[in-house]
Amino acid sequence: MSSTLDFEITLTERPATADERARILADPGFGRHFTDHMITIRYSADRGWHDARLEPYGPIPMDPASQVFHYAQELFEGLKAYRQPDGSVVTFRPFMNAARMNRTARRMAMPEMPEQLFVDAVELLVRTDHAWVPDAEGHSLYLRPFMFATTRGLGVNSPADEFLFMVIASPSGLYYPRGIKPVSVWLSQDYTRAAPGGTGEAKFGGNYAASFAGQAEAVAAGCDQVVWLDAVEHRWVEEVGSMNLMFVYGSGARARMLTPALTGTLLAGVTRDSMLTLAPDLGIAAEEGKISIEEWQSGCASGEITEVFGCGTAAIISPVGHVKGNDREWTIGDGEPGEISMRLREELIGIQYGTRPDPYGWVHKIV
Ligand SMILES: *Cc1c(COP(=O)(O)O)cnc(C)c1O
Repeated sequence: MSSTLDFEITLTERPATADERARILADPGFGRHFTDHMITIRYSADRGWHDARLEPYGPIPMDPASQVFHYAQELFEGLKAYRQPDGSVVTFRPFMNAARMNRTARRMAMPEMPEQLFVDAVELLVRTDHAWVPDAEGHSLYLRPFMFATTRGLGVNSPADEFLFMVIASPSGLYYPRGIKPVSVWLSQDYTRAAPGGTGEAKFGGNYAASFAGQAEAVAAGCDQVVWLDAVEHRWVEEVGSMNLMFVYGSGARARMLTPALTGTLLAGVTRDSMLTLAPDLGIAAEEGKISIEEWQSGCASGEITEVFGCGTAAIISPVGHVKGNDREWTIGDGEPGEISMRLREELIGIQYGTRPDPYGWVHKIV
């Protein structure tokens, strides 16, 4: 497959100066600063994907009657570009994001995009703004592809037929600037993130809008993040915040790992998939299955469950140290990041930043 479109390129007349960029890259935070350019590609039912552009980053004119504002027809993706020891820049498994975007698009009645066009768009932006890819250890350039319905009109009986796909990029610092600290999590009994037949496996902004009240409840209960349970029995553990969950049983050579299976209500994380692949190669048996909150609590009480962590592109891993619900509360391990969690993290980071071999062909060199 080759790229299906030629991009029209308009470079900004006011790029950030080297000094401005250096000041931002010294402390980028997450999602606060954006690079000089962005990608836009239009879709219409009669023309398909067309009008691909790289242009200066900036506001986009929108009709107030655009369907996305009223019916939330949108989706997004998230991946990163990493600086390598030789100065080159790579992305990590970008075709997985492309394929996932298309699965989300099908669920949201939005158009699919040729995977190669998705990857070309992301990589054109990184190539153009490569000076924004940080050098500092553990920093990266976060890439945010997204798509939304621009069809004008409030009628819902005819599906939207015009869409805009965009990519923006944001330098990203350390997720844990003061060292990795386990988070505390809240078992949400009042809210559900996703129900069977719903949109839980789509990377769709509406899932986030619907989860903010649960996250606020977690914070009000003194916790960092919310654990989502299944919608039917409110027992089976699905995700934490916007990360997939991993449970480690035992330790050392006998450690094994379990992650909730993709039942249709979970998001299929690229990090989750990478952990499932890496673990067996490090001698850690890994399986997908089911775990209830009772099993989680009793497993920690008996010492069988030794580590629990969330995983996703932004944080890579986020150890869970404490669990709290309406009628129960417990601690995992000694409340410090676990050995297996940290080994998996080191291995994945090593592949992403080019300090370890990449036996799986996961990194995609751009510049
Ligand atoms: C994006 C996301 C994840 C993590 O996916 P990665 O591809 O590993 O970044 C997990 N859960 C939810 C709900 C998400 O939106």
